[in-house]
Amino acid sequence: DDIDLFLPVSNRTVTWYLCGPTVYDACHMGHARAYLTFDILRRLMEDYFHYNILYQVNITDVDDKIILRARQNKLFNEYKADAVSANDYKAVESYVAGAMGAMRNKLENKVTELEEPLPEGTPAKQIEKRSEALAEAKFKVEQFAEAEAGVKEATTIESILVPSRDAVAAQLDKEKGATVTDPKIFEDHARRFEREFHEDMASLGVREPDVVTRVTEYIPPIVEYIEGIVKNEYAYESNGSVYFDTNAFKGEGYDYRKLKPGTETSAEEMAEGEGALVGGSSEKKHPNDFALWKASKPGEPSWESPWGNGRPGWHIECSVMASDIIGENIDIHGGGVDLMFPHHDNEMAQAEAYHQCGQWVNYFFHAGHLHIKGLKMSKSLKNFITIRQALEEHSPRQLRLMFLMQPWDKPMNYSDQTVDDAKAKEKYFKNFFGAVKSVLRTDFVSERQGWTPADRSLREVLLKVQESVHASLCDNMKTYEAIQILVDLVQDCNKYLTAEDKPKNLLIKKVAIYVTKMLRVFGLIEGGDEIGFGESSSAGGSKEAVVGPFVDAFVEFREKVRTAAKSKSGPGEFLSHCDEVRDSTLANLGIRVEDSTETSMWKMDDPEVIRKEVEEKKQRAAEAASKKARAKVDRLEGDVTKAKNAATTPTEMFKTGSHADRWGSYDDNGKPTTTKDGEPLSKSQQKSMAKEQKNQEKAHAKLVKAAGEKGIDAYIADLEKEIEGLKINLV
Ligand SMILES: [Zn+2]
Repeated sequence: DDIDLFLPVSNRTVTWYLCGPTVYDACHMGHARAYLTFDILRRLMEDYFHYNILYQVNITDVDDKIILRARQNKLFNEYKADAVSANDYKAVESYVAGAMGAMRNKLENKVTELEEPLPEGTPAKQIEKRSEALAEAKFKVEQFAEAEAGVKEATTIESILVPSRDAVAAQLDKEKGATVTDPKIFEDHARRFEREFHEDMASLGVREPDVVTRVTEYIPPIVEYIEGIVKNEYAYESNGSVYFDTNAFKGEGYDYRKLKPGTETSAEEMAEGEGALVGGSSEKKHPNDFALWKASKPGEPSWESPWGNGRPGWHIECSVMASDIIGENIDIHGGGVDLMFPHHDNEMAQAEAYHQCGQWVNYFFHAGHLHIKGLKMSKSLKNFITIRQALEEHSPRQLRLMFLMQPWDKPMNYSDQTVDDAKAKEKYFKNFFGAVKSVLRTDFVSERQGWTPADRSLREVLLKVQESVHASLCDNMKTYEAIQILVDLVQDCNKYLTAEDKPKNLLIKKVAIYVTKMLRVFGLIEGGDEIGFGESSSAGGSKEAVVGPFVDAFVEFREKVRTAAKSKSGPGEFLSHCDEVRDSTLANLGIRVEDSTETSMWKMDDPEVIRKEVEEKKQRAAEAASKKARAKVDRLEGDVTKAKNAATTPTEMFKTGSHADRWGSYDDNGKPTTTKDGEPLSKSQQKSMAKEQKNQEKAHAKLVKAAGEKGIDAYIADLEKEIEGLKINLV
């Protein structure tokens, strides 16, 4: 079939030159299509096919568009400031009227010019282009009527200068453009949009080039290169400019217009290649000859050269900078499809004329056009969308996925539908990863191992998918096919995950890792371009891997609190869960919770350190509790002795225990009156006994009261039981 084999010049090294932006305005979605497309192709070559890539991008920072834009901005801002301070509305109104009239003439002349019939035998493609250009020119005239209406309504200097801005700027440039001579004005304008370009690429997640080259830093090599082409007799000087001699080049047998064969160059194509500030074609030997060096007119930046002061033509910069960094033979040259001719054909002709080789570039990658809702994007059509505007509505991943879902080298339509398709696919992948992760949180070791028929068939599906994705990427990097194959794989996985049999963690993980790897290769998953080992080997990984254990702890705690609340538990149970979270769950996660009366603080620390602290705290608390318990046992044992003593009634106290068989007779209160031998007791003896009995009376009454209804024996038995209980916990 018609597939070309890709063969780099040198083994696995691939040199790649990409035409970068002309930095005169904000980047729009057309730029996003081109640069995201090349980023995707480059990532595939670098991260999937594993070529060693040298990727060069240039910055065109001197160009007719930059010169005009910078000059007009400066002149308009100065005019406005002067007009506001002079405050002469009539004068401004009259100047605006003149500028608007000139602009209307110019726009109408363009329509008349495009209405001229094309000569017979003009190719259909050119006729089509002409009618598109005519429609646009007519549309611009319609748009201009709106500006004219705005001018009519205006009543102040500020308000009249809004709708008339473009016309006034053009008029001022015509009158005074030649007076702008400070090169810094052009440089500042270009630098501002160069920085914006890099910022926009970073927000889109476009990998940085390996080398960036700026035209203004390459002027001497450009002059030398042009001298080389002149020396080889493929270019000639005319009126201070140098032109490429297309007939001389072809006359020597070189193949000119390799990319877009044909001999007729339309006026539009020629004008686009040469720029708005180019001199008349009377300087050229043939109308298709193009400028390598342009004599600078007043009001244009210029550099010295053997042909007088001037500046480089557009195409020559790429030939020189790519030859300088990469050399005489380039593997891949990229750019938007609109650059195919004249830019790329002319670049190649120049380089081949300089190096005197037959083929300077081996492969051209041309990213397809982007249409906005079916129309060409242009400021006059009011469907101009900057990258920044697009990123306000959609994420960089959604935009990238949208481009991945299109053939990269075909025209595509940017519409709500295409973005919504991308968003739906993104969500589909996201749900899949979520479902897999939830399965992977379970403990696979506790599950049945091996493979069921369902497992075997999922593995077969994966193998087939890997092969077809590879085939699609080998075939002109058909990412739209690869994405669809991955979507189908996810669909199979979803069935597998919801089937009756429990999914196998190891298998589904393998599939999910493969899908992730491919999405990362496409640039849909951030990361992969970091330098070094990462922040910390344990804290690294995804957000989910980091927060997972904490979320688990929280969910588990919540579960316990809910259960306790449902079973109407007392505060003790809630507090015990709180202690458990502090002393165990969070401690093991390396979080130290410090309680105080007001609020609790937390700090991160080594889990080992916190666990030790908790252990020590527990030990101290146990020791204190044990000390307290021992003191209580001692006290209770005293109480028991006392109670046993107080248990004897006062009337019986001299008849039992140590008093038994000691006394001969007693009085009514049970106090002894004589000894066993019949001897009466002395007065002091009786007094002492009466006192003893009184004390016993008090102690006994107290005991009776303390014992209450259960009685003295039971009371003492309870005390003894309590002592036994406490003693068990005393070590
Ligand atoms: Zn280029």
